[in-house]
Amino acid sequence: MFDNLTNRLSVVIKTLRGEARLTEANIQDALREVRMALLEADVALPVVKEFIARVKEKAVGKEVMSSLSPGQALVGVVHQELIAIMGGEKADINLATVPPAVILMAGLQGAGKTTSSGKLAKWLMEQKKKKVLLVSCDTYRPAAIQQLELLANQTGTDFFPVHAGQQPKEIAAAALDFARRHFHDVMIVDTAGRLAIDEAMMEEIRELETLLKPIETLFVVDAMQGQDAVNTAKAFAEALPLTGVILTKLDGDARGGAALSVLQVTGKPIKFAGVAEKMTGLEAFHPDRMASRILGMGDVLGLIEEAQRGVDQQEAEKLAKKIKSGKSFDLNDFKMQFQQMKNMGGMSAMMDKLPAQLTQAAQKVKMDDKVMGRTEGIINAMTPQERLKPEILKASRKRRIATGAGVPVQEVNRLLAQFEQTQKMMKMMNKGGMAKMLRGMKG
Ligand code: GDP
Repeated sequence: MFDNLTNRLSVVIKTLRGEARLTEANIQDALREVRMALLEADVALPVVKEFIARVKEKAVGKEVMSSLSPGQALVGVVHQELIAIMGGEKADINLATVPPAVILMAGLQGAGKTTSSGKLAKWLMEQKKKKVLLVSCDTYRPAAIQQLELLANQTGTDFFPVHAGQQPKEIAAAALDFARRHFHDVMIVDTAGRLAIDEAMMEEIRELETLLKPIETLFVVDAMQGQDAVNTAKAFAEALPLTGVILTKLDGDARGGAALSVLQVTGKPIKFAGVAEKMTGLEAFHPDRMASRILGMGDVLGLIEEAQRGVDQQEAEKLAKKIKSGKSFDLNDFKMQFQQMKNMGGMSAMMDKLPAQLTQAAQKVKMDDKVMGRTEGIINAMTPQERLKPEILKASRKRRIATGAGVPVQEVNRLLAQFEQTQKMMKMMNKGGMAKMLRGMKG
């Protein structure tokens, strides 16, 4: 999958050399390669355009860390944007409702709905310890009902029996009643698919949706379908309130473009990926892992991470030395602290790793990624002199900085107060060590 992207970027890494900064001119050829690779992988054109624009915006002006080549730095940006285009964070399945939590499966015939229903049942039983009921509303193909029953037996899932002549809505209503009486946590409803979008099918599944009020309506789509998958996804997203996507057959020779396009087109995240025909072949979808897989550049990604850590280490040591030497802590140092936080994945990523007390403290001062971004913008709007000697910041300078950063003057004042607080803390650390600093914080 995406072999071309790896190959093309390998060339980029070799050709982009010796530049200290990424510029529009020196990344132009590289971006052309990325664009070609994405188009070859069958990513939808509007998605490619937006992707390239975002990479460009993030990359231009970026300083290249000393241990990386410019090409590697660009790969780093591409990697981050690949993660972002797939939604950034892993999107969990939502079961938070009065049981049974209904999961409605939608998609074209052959997409893998029935198979995925069986896999999902197994996954929910094993990973979430749920009692699951499998229901088939595919009354058009009796074989489809049998297929689901077979999968239910194979995975040890309860199966709701259907009688000849029953209509989808009747089955759904009866199954819901059955699931309530038998205390099923989750009820997965497989639906009829057609070879192409057709109004009768959409109407039927819309009716099922209204009746069942599913907490999850998952659109199942075959990754091998490429561009067609995008068109189908669009039609389903318009007809139904989808909550997520299952991307199947990622194990095949799919060119993978659908993985990048689907969120843009449907506005809904991929929640699961089908990676084998067998019942164990379903995985929770992780945008970061997928991005690494698409890039297929484990070595380069490792290098980038290491460089990042190296820089943080160097900077941290420099800062520690500076404090020890008694030099004052200025706004440049303050900014660097923010950058380090950003390198670590931003405030929201750090929150996950911080102990509860610290998380609460950060919430109290309303320190989130947005505030962090604004803070950096304000410091960037200052002159080097102002950063070194913040005490020269009087009203007119503050006004100029606020305009430059596009924030009200109060924000500049808030930042300066925060900086002073940090500076005080640094001084205390210097004089009396940690114990004194902690006392100071309490007061
Ligand atoms: P439905 O018509 O949407 O219910 O599609 P099915 O569940 O019957 O699947 C169609 C075909 O795709 C079957 O042969 C499945 O075994 C196969 N299939 C489904 N998901 C996957 C997958 O993730 N990987 C592979 N290799 N095959 C799959």
